[in-house]
Amino acid sequence: MWSHDRFRIPLPDGHKFPISKYQLLRERVEGRVIVRESDAVPWEWLAAVHDADLLDRIRTGQMSIREQRGLGLPWSDVLVERGRRSVGGTLAAARRALDRGVGMNLGGGTHHAGHDFARGYCLFNDVAVTLARLRLEGLAQRAVVVDCDVHQGDGTAQILGPDPDAFTLSLHGARNYPFQKIPSDLDVDLASGTGDDDYLFELDRALDVALAGDYDVAFYLAGADPWEGDRLGRLSLTKPGLRARDELVLRRLRGIPTVVVLAGGYAPDPADTVDINAATLDCVLASTS
Ligand SMILES: [Zn+2]
Repeated sequence: MWSHDRFRIPLPDGHKFPISKYQLLRERVEGRVIVRESDAVPWEWLAAVHDADLLDRIRTGQMSIREQRGLGLPWSDVLVERGRRSVGGTLAAARRALDRGVGMNLGGGTHHAGHDFARGYCLFNDVAVTLARLRLEGLAQRAVVVDCDVHQGDGTAQILGPDPDAFTLSLHGARNYPFQKIPSDLDVDLASGTGDDDYLFELDRALDVALAGDYDVAFYLAGADPWEGDRLGRLSLTKPGLRARDELVLRRLRGIPTVVVLAGGYAPDPADTVDINAATLDCVLASTS
């Protein structure tokens, strides 16, 4: 497991971004698993995916007010360091997955970051940068992305949607951010209030399509925000339902090196998001035994 929770973005009081959950999660799982601190990836590795001018503005603190508003987070040195380490965690988890079957970043899943935009709390696209790096090193070529965050993975779709060696699947609330979606290879738009049974049925069916190909690596975005109590979710999954989702995805991905990342989770009490993330980790551990 990898974490970068020590790099805490300064945020105004009452900000919706759940910065505390990362440390709470690490503290919850430490002792059961080894949690390592993620390294920052070099800027050149980010440049394999992201626009050079965008990276320049991020690096030098020149993001416009409009860009920062779209990102939803104020620019700071820590924001940038944290973003680079978030990608580093996913890359490290991917190396582990290729070596041992599964690896998990207690962060990452920043799927709203596209080639030339950083938005929706997502500075860099950790999955796309990781895949680019794995390809460059000759470690993997074909990838499937199973994005179960409640928000559509528009950034990932923009970067990897047209890629013939990558399949992007996104299951999300139809009437939710981002309101202008960029098509994935397969998008499943769910009605507000969708509960466990319908969700699991749709997921299973979508995985039949997504997993028709052969893949060297899989990325699973185990978003906690489809939970019924989530502030930004609009779906109605229970905690047991989310656990069943994790079990289903990990079972269907068996045999493919699998990288698990957290993505979103905006429960009013961060302890609920941590419960859901910790249950995902339980499923990851169970899948390796
Ligand atoms: Zn989300």
